[in-house]
Amino acid sequence: MTLFDSPSFEGHEGVHAFSDEKSGLKTIIAVHSTARGPAAGGCRMWPYPDAEAALEDALRLSRAMSFKNAMADLDLGGGKAVIIGDARAQKTPALFEAFGACVDQLGGRYWTAEDVGVSPADLTHARKRTRYVAGLEGHPAASGDPSPVTAEGVFRGVRLCVQRALGRDLDGVRIAIQGVGHVGGYLADKLHAAGAKLILTDVNAEQLHAVAARTESKVVAPGAIFDVDCDVFAPCALGGAINAETLPRIKARVIAGGANNQLADAETGRALFNHGMLYAPDYVINGGGIINVAGEIRALEAGEAFDPAWVDAKLDRLAKTLEEVLDRALAEHRPTNEVATEIAKARITIAAEKRAAA
Ligand code: NAD
Repeated sequence: MTLFDSPSFEGHEGVHAFSDEKSGLKTIIAVHSTARGPAAGGCRMWPYPDAEAALEDALRLSRAMSFKNAMADLDLGGGKAVIIGDARAQKTPALFEAFGACVDQLGGRYWTAEDVGVSPADLTHARKRTRYVAGLEGHPAASGDPSPVTAEGVFRGVRLCVQRALGRDLDGVRIAIQGVGHVGGYLADKLHAAGAKLILTDVNAEQLHAVAARTESKVVAPGAIFDVDCDVFAPCALGGAINAETLPRIKARVIAGGANNQLADAETGRALFNHGMLYAPDYVINGGGIINVAGEIRALEAGEAFDPAWVDAKLDRLAKTLEEVLDRALAEHRPTNEVATEIAKARITIAAEKRAAA
């Protein structure tokens, strides 16, 4: 199969492969859409087995960023960069400087930020060669750790889904959280403060017990989280938590959490729906992080300081978008993931048409 026939390539405006012999950089920057504004999405460093696997990941992730940015109502398109390499062994300042130069060659069509394997410190080196970098630290426009904002968006989304599916507020609702890292930990604090009863798991025992102690929660082994009696299941670890094996075990009426790519595939969304479960599409409910980054891009472009009030207003708007997805899914008797994809695509198409007409 050639690149142009690949289903993942569909809809992409451009895919850019760069290498730099001196630093050893090999990077692919995929720009899915700039219809709503410059493409924005993080840079992932991962030891991909080959360039094909790296390309596939870049394409899949950049498309997902278009959808996420559209659903967060940001004036941003979708893009993603991947660097082929082992983040634990192959990072150097020169590598990230060379990466910055590649980003700069796109002339502002793509803004980069952190993702798996890339830290704010790495981005400082990229920034020496391009201004199209967000997620830095220590300047007035800096947005800082996005996790608390992501968790706040997820919290609002869980509350909404509980109101819709169970007709009650969070007080006394039993919520199972898989993964209490950055997002899951902050989410646990917020849910505990709202009176929810939490059951937690994490593969990191130390972190698990610390979060459980401060939120007066029960803990279970990682494999047991799918079997607990609960009203809400909140995936906040890695992708693919909801699949053909785990779905029949989950007793919750609501699935709503911060993780990316929660469903193994789109059919799992339909299976959830057939089981009578309400699913908050992941790239809608977890849009708080990219909203925070967008706040930094906005501030950098305007030469202003970061404005938390702008971020908060966008989070309110995100909750409205989730409501729109739930309303439409209910009215049309369809899975929420299918409705969300349709709305995201429509928002991108409208922006593209407006741009073409201008
Ligand atoms: P993190 O690494 O801080 O937390 C993930 C936690 O999950 C860790 O504590 C890890 O030990 C745990 N974990 C991993 N595998 C597990 C398993 N099988 N069972 C139980 N626990 C397991 O990452 P994070 O920043 O909190 O992100 C969590 C998820 O949310 C990821 O899918 C990420 O892509 C997504 N996300 C994060 C943000 C953000 O702002 N950080 C924004 C949007 C989406």
